[in-house]
Amino acid sequence: MNNKMKRLFLAIFLVFLAVLPVFPATPEFWINQMNSIGIASLVVLGLVVLTGVGGLTSFGQAAFVGIGAYATAYLSTSAGYSPWLGLVLAIALTFFVSYILGQITLRLSGHYLPLATIAVCLVFYYLYGNMGFLGRHDGIPGIPPIEIFGFSLLKAKHVYYLIWVLVLFAVWTSKNLLDSRPGRAIRSLKSGAGMAESFGVHTQYYKVVAFVYAGVLAGLAGWLYAHEQRAVSPSTFGINYGIEYLFMAVIGGSASIWGAVFGSALILTMKDKIQDIVPALLNTTANFEMVVFGILMVLILHHAREGLWPILVNFFSRITGRQLAPVREVPQAASALPQRAKPGHGQLILEVNDIRKEFGGLVAVNDISFSIKAGEIMGLIGPNGAGKSTSFNLITGVHSLTSGSVRFMGQEIGSLSSRKIAALGVGRTFQHVQLLPTMSVLENVALGTHLRTNTGIVQSLLHIERDAEAQMLQEAKKQLERVGLGDYIHEQAGNLSLGQQRIVEIARALALDPTLLLLDEPAAGLRYKEKQELAKVLSALRDEGMSILLVEHDMDFVMRLTNHLVVMDFGTKIAEGTPEQVQTNPVVLEAYLGGVDDDLSISVQKDATA
Ligand code: ADP
Ligand code: MG
Repeated sequence: MNNKMKRLFLAIFLVFLAVLPVFPATPEFWINQMNSIGIASLVVLGLVVLTGVGGLTSFGQAAFVGIGAYATAYLSTSAGYSPWLGLVLAIALTFFVSYILGQITLRLSGHYLPLATIAVCLVFYYLYGNMGFLGRHDGIPGIPPIEIFGFSLLKAKHVYYLIWVLVLFAVWTSKNLLDSRPGRAIRSLKSGAGMAESFGVHTQYYKVVAFVYAGVLAGLAGWLYAHEQRAVSPSTFGINYGIEYLFMAVIGGSASIWGAVFGSALILTMKDKIQDIVPALLNTTANFEMVVFGILMVLILHHAREGLWPILVNFFSRITGRQLAPVREVPQAASALPQRAKPGHGQLILEVNDIRKEFGGLVAVNDISFSIKAGEIMGLIGPNGAGKSTSFNLITGVHSLTSGSVRFMGQEIGSLSSRKIAALGVGRTFQHVQLLPTMSVLENVALGTHLRTNTGIVQSLLHIERDAEAQMLQEAKKQLERVGLGDYIHEQAGNLSLGQQRIVEIARALALDPTLLLLDEPAAGLRYKEKQELAKVLSALRDEGMSILLVEHDMDFVMRLTNHLVVMDFGTKIAEGTPEQVQTNPVVLEAYLGGVDDDLSISVQKDATA
């Protein structure tokens, strides 16, 4: 759907929202239902950011709804304060609680996080049910309605407007967030911590950001709920509601913002219908909706991972004949991003001294030393398993050194984290491509600029970081053009060939404005012509003064491009020198050609016996 179509659909939806309560024939029940949908949408929007985009599953959002609801319920009844003060408390409390819980639980990996969120939900459920001043299992009745300038939002059709204004606001802030520097950091959480940290993303921080954002939206929903229902009790904040919110997110489309509103509407409407139909059919009042939702969820996870919203968008695109992918335009930046001062030609950039890595009994890297000067391409070659990638990971701080030292521009970096090393100007690619496949090529590369601006969360939510964002996108575009992928910037990264994806990784590393570039098998999977293009790009970079450490299997490629080579075998350095020296070194020939000879002799023998 192109941007114009999107705006048209949005306008129709807004008009529908605005006139629904005014229309005299609209049943009261519909308004109530819309209010519930709006409140749930707020919670689910948080889950889209946290779970759908960030990959952090929470079953516990109902607990935060409860915190917001009970905070305002207590304050506006027993304590007699205005609901607006209740709003402040609801947000402050959910912020505080989700921050603390996030700091603790988000360090847990794998299944422990979802389990911890279940525990949180249960704990709060029993807290509400057992605390005297919160009315125990009866809850708190008699909550006053919200007033705006003396006008009471007592009627459903009046609070309706407040709810939906807040939903639309949250849709807007969520969209802003995802299309920003922090948003790209949150999206990169799904790729596993290693890649994101290599571009300076403080992954733990952004996990907490996503968790707090989701928590605060749930708290806001709780505040609205308390004043809309005029009573709260523990049962609506239990674990089954936590699960229901997750259903809404997954079924609607866990990574799409409008999918949150759609999923909430679908689940709540279905719930209501099922509660009407099943008792009539089966003569029972049991809770069948959870069974139906469970089945629906399994079907969705099997057949439409992205949920129903993308399918719906696809369908509309087809019947209207408009192009599908929403295109992120690259705004013209006022100025280019600042660049770091580069070292003079020939200056010593990297000194690796006796680095060693042991994995249990295996010595993957055995006291290797070498150095790289500015404006030089150094090749690191050797058979599979020789320890080349491990050496990369030692230099970039992904693995810790068993012993040895690494100095970058005179500074010891052997004990620094990969985030700090990236900040000093070390850019890298990965042997196994680590792009975010559903994100555009442009935004993948923009992640590389993460350390070059410092736009924060609030600026991004309100989209007042336009200049910095334009600079980052512009820089990403520039680097993509530099490596020859200027025609692909709006493509999804996962749709490119593997060879092209490797080049995207180079552009992303360049977007960091590195002094030293580490490339792990960049030419693997490239066609002959593409390799030639890549060689041109790399020599141009060298001429600009860049230092490059290159791991590569294609000997022809390495020999033509490098100034200096180190050969490794079984973790040990077996030779070093210029390409000519290495090519004629008998030890190297033994390590490489020895293997080939064996293979040849085997195939000859096979032929002989056949
Ligand atoms: P290369 O990149 O030269 O092909 P690697 O550096 O990937 O080789 O691997 C060197 C050796 O270290 C191999 O034997 C590999 O199995 C082992 N290795 C690499 N990473 C790990 C790890 N995280 N844990 C245990 N062994 C590892
Ligand atoms: Mg490797």
